[in-house]
Formats: sequence, C-alpha cells, structure tokens
Amino acid sequence: MGLEEAALYLHVPFCRAKCPYCDFYSLPQPPEEEILRKFLKALKKEVLLRRAELESYRFVTLYVGGGTPSLLPPWFYQNFYEFLEKELTFTPQEATLEANPEGLTLKYLRAVKSIFNRLSLGAQSLRAEGLRALGRRHSIDDIKKAFEAARNAEIKNISLDFIFGWPGQTLILLEQELKEIKLLAPEHISYYELTLEEGTAFYQKARKGKLSLPPEDEVIRMYEFVHSFLVEVGYEHYEISNFARFGFRCRHNLFYWEARPYLGLGPAAASYLHGRRTKTVEDLHLYLKSLEEGVLPPREVEKLTEEERFREAVILGLRLLGGIDLFLFRKRFQYDLRAYYGARLRRLFEMGLLEISDNHLRLTQKGRLLANAVFRELV
Ligand code: SF4
Repeated sequence: MGLEEAALYLHVPFCRAKCPYCDFYSLPQPPEEEILRKFLKALKKEVLLRRAELESYRFVTLYVGGGTPSLLPPWFYQNFYEFLEKELTFTPQEATLEANPEGLTLKYLRAVKSIFNRLSLGAQSLRAEGLRALGRRHSIDDIKKAFEAARNAEIKNISLDFIFGWPGQTLILLEQELKEIKLLAPEHISYYELTLEEGTAFYQKARKGKLSLPPEDEVIRMYEFVHSFLVEVGYEHYEISNFARFGFRCRHNLFYWEARPYLGLGPAAASYLHGRRTKTVEDLHLYLKSLEEGVLPPREVEKLTEEERFREAVILGLRLLGGIDLFLFRKRFQYDLRAYYGARLRRLFEMGLLEISDNHLRLTQKGRLLANAVFRELV
C-alpha cells in the first residue's frame, strides 16, 4: 500500500520578547547554545519514539513556526533536516521558515536557503503606528531590508503576515499599508484580524478598559477593503485570511484546512495522525526532561469519531473560498452533508451565508464576514 501524504510542523519555542497580543507558546528569551543542543537532541528522540505512528506517511511539506524560528542558527536546521531525511519518508516540496524582520541578514538567508524554499515574514504592519500599537520591536525599514535580503538570496516564495483591527487603525492607514504591500509584491499574504486571546497583555488591558480597538463595523469594512484591494491587484483570495499569486497557495496550511494528516514536533505542537489529535505539553523544560529520560512528554490525546472528523472537515473546508466538493466529501465520509445538517443548512442558505454552486458548498461574501457564527451552527 502506498504511503499517505502528510505535513510536518516544527515548533520553535523561543522569542526575543513576548508581543502583547500573542498567545503562541514561546519563552521570551533567545536560546543559549546549550539549550539549543538539548532541544535538537530531544526533537530527534521524539521522532524516534513516535516512529511507529509515522511509518505510514510521506511528509511532503515542512513548516518551521513558533516562536521565532529565525533566532536559530543554520546548523540547527541543516542537522535536523538530514536526520529527518534519514529517519522518515521525508521529501518536502515546500519548506517554510517563519522569520521576524529584525536582524534577518542576507548571510543568514543564504545559509538556510538550501533547506527552505519559502519564507514567511512576520511584518504585521507597514505603518509605524501599527507596529507601535502592536508592540513590535521592528521598524518598517527592517521589514523592507529583510524582504530585499530574501529576494537577494533568491527566495522566490515570500509570504508576508499582517494584522488588521489594531488600536488606532483607520481605513486610510490600511489603504496606505496595502499600497506599500503592492510595491513589495510578495507571492503570498496573510491578513488576520486582531483577536484578544486570554492570558495576553492585550486581553488584560481590554478587561481594564485600557485598550481601544476600532468598532466592529469598521473592522468589517477593513476586511472587505483588504479583499477588494488585493483581488484587484491580482491576488487570489483562497482562504478566509489568505491571499496568493497563482501557484503560490501555502501547501502546508492546505493540509490543515483540508483536514489531512500532519505531524507536529516540539513543545505545544499539535498533530493529526490516524484520526487522532494530539497536543504536546506547553512546557519546554518538561519536554526536554521527558525526552532525556527516554519517554515521550505528556500529550493531550483525542480520538475523533467518524462523525467528529466529518464535522471538523466541514468547518475547516469552509474556510477555503473554493469551498467543499460535495462529491469528494461523500466519497470520503459516510455522511451526506445536506441530509446531515438538514434544516440548519437551509436556514444558512436563507440568510445568504452559504451557497451551493458547481457541486461545491461555500461561504458567500456575507458568510465570510460572519464565518464564526456559521461555524458555530455547524460544529
Ligand atoms: S507574535 Fe511572534 S515574535 Fe511575538 S511573541 Fe508571538 S511568536 Fe513571538
């Protein structure tokens, strides 16, 4: 039997400092060499201890996220990549490195280019007001220099990440930012709405009434504006928050949205393999200690039923603007989507939030603005 394709994610749990809106697991200090060596050894051990779980997959994408992966030296990635090639069926056609703009040099990018053919740069804003409001440490100049360095290193697939809806943002500031993005012309763009995650500094500030965000209707207008601007200048809007030039959709993230298998390595990394969802403990020291002792670190494990996998695939699939192919879905799951959701689906059609055309179920433009409400209905 052939191997099933899967994605491979590596979580790097280090940052220079913690950003006030971020709830990803990371320690707010760059790693010392000794910790890095331990981390590398632990990752290898994790792969070896999980080998039986991984044997039936061919890993066709690599995504190193975090945290701030660009804090780690090239030797770390070269060493781990060779290990993965030796121990797994690992043939990535797309390999992404997440990076922060500050201090990203041409020398570094040239050194990691033999491994990574895609760079995801955490720009977050191309307005000084935005970077300040988001508490970022880099400047617009840093973003432009990092982007130019990536081009000079001949990285041909660059994604830029942005946040909209930050305190003080207006449609005019957004338009100025989009014009700057157009000039840079990255292959891929992610635009995420700022959300207040529990446990972050922004969440605390908002609770005390000390954070003033743009009103909801203004944020909706911003989302619509991002869509129309980027589509107008030639990007395909292919997922609720993601835009790409033709041929540059993120193959790795498509595994998540298409509910296909993925392996997550490192602390706080999630996996979805053999219909089982797992998440490794969010604690680097416990992660290192467990693996030093030759045991897997604690993991939350959830075995999904066929019905749960079906519902999850519906929600994830609707994130894609192409929607869900009803014919393929029927072949993949034993449920008929229309019969399963019945009246709930009809109500969403009547409200103009969902539509079916060419045998695909998808969110309408209005549905995209109210996507979370639609998902709550279908979950
Ligand atoms: S936003 Fe990025 S750089 Fe900031 S704390 Fe989160 S992972 Fe680290």
